[in-house]
Amino acid sequence: MNSKFEILKKDSKFLWHPFTQIKNNNKPIIIESAKNEILQDIDGNEYIDLISSWWINTHGHCRIEIINSVLKQSKKLEQVLFAGFTHEPAVDLAEKIIELLPKGLSRIFYSDNGSTSVEIAMKVAIQFWFNKGEKKNKFVAFNGGYHGDTFGAMSVGRSSGFYKPFEDMLNMTYFIPFPEDWRGNNQLQRNEKIAKDSAHKIIKNHKKEIAAVIIEPLIQGAFGMRMCRKEFCSELVEMFKEAGILVIFDEVMTGFGRTGKMFATDHLSVEPDIICLAKSLTGGFIPLAVTVFNEYIHNEFIDKDINKSFLHGHTFSANPIACSAALSSLSLFEKDKTFDKIKNISQIHKKFSDELSKNSFISKIRTLGSILAFDYSKISTEYGSDQSLEIKKKFMDQGLLIRPIGNSIYLMPPYCISKKNLIKSYEKIIEILQ
Ligand code: PMP
Repeated sequence: MNSKFEILKKDSKFLWHPFTQIKNNNKPIIIESAKNEILQDIDGNEYIDLISSWWINTHGHCRIEIINSVLKQSKKLEQVLFAGFTHEPAVDLAEKIIELLPKGLSRIFYSDNGSTSVEIAMKVAIQFWFNKGEKKNKFVAFNGGYHGDTFGAMSVGRSSGFYKPFEDMLNMTYFIPFPEDWRGNNQLQRNEKIAKDSAHKIIKNHKKEIAAVIIEPLIQGAFGMRMCRKEFCSELVEMFKEAGILVIFDEVMTGFGRTGKMFATDHLSVEPDIICLAKSLTGGFIPLAVTVFNEYIHNEFIDKDINKSFLHGHTFSANPIACSAALSSLSLFEKDKTFDKIKNISQIHKKFSDELSKNSFISKIRTLGSILAFDYSKISTEYGSDQSLEIKKKFMDQGLLIRPIGNSIYLMPPYCISKKNLIKSYEKIIEILQ
């Protein structure tokens, strides 16, 4: 077994960590084990996982039911290519997901992460028009939207500010301002009008070249958990639908209960043509993603001509172990009465919001389902600033895993978090921020 020193030495010699500037990087924390909402490091220190390990953990770490299904499936069939083959976990999971989604979404394409699920949505949207004999290869997205780090996903998330070196290669998107909402916002009506006018103008001038609009419904995750009103979101989608533009919902983050309903779509009066799901799909166990399509999109790919098929695939598509983990995770929603748990978290978030609002250095308090976010005026809005790293360290030192985005601080705990740990976390947060 490696000692702590050896692990850190090998880490610094061989590894390159995501979203990390090595110069600023204090040594990474070595996590050795986890249970429910608690992570434990090699020295025995415990951390409450208040961000569900990058928004994926739903029912808690190391849930025995998911472990058992992974083990059972691993002994039976660990992997088989998915072109020309199929298997029970893949079809059962597809059936289950389709049961949960709005009626129109009925055809599933498997991949392995959020970015690929978005790439697939974008490529299918372009090829849908191509197969119909039309050239439409532009997209519409919100300012501040984030959809992943592959090239297609970057091009619709360009305005998130992460992609400066690649900007010249990302010219396929028209952007609409995002009218963010929070408690006590008095600019909302004005900002929503600006957004709608902008969408109207884009549709009017560019309708003929637009393949689809892509939206993170209700919450922009990586831009700092910025929320918008559901009525606004529905009206905006309606505008694009009326113009005959395909609508893609990126529910990679919002899917599987985060917003208090199974999908953010369930809050709205409109349905997308395509939906992207990943992150929490397997309860945080194994990478897996799906892109789900309306049947009429799939129909445009049925032809004798091979070039009309979707010539795209990932080696690990529909991995049987991952599908089994997902089936197990989905079955836990009923067994655990997960939506009651999310409701409880949501109520405690609201109480904490009242506490937070008493502090002058806190603004833009916003909550939805299991998510709570606010802005903290004592630190810079810049992503990865020294101040933001410093406050992150202070949280960690107090046993709280929280990663501010710029000056936005957010909580998104696993649904199993105990009331005691949630309240303890709030008390410590206030103390640290003060
Ligand atoms: N879309 C959204 C809304 C996301 O939040 C993310 C990841 N934060 C992605 C796509 C990309 O997912 P992945 O990191 O699994 O590629």
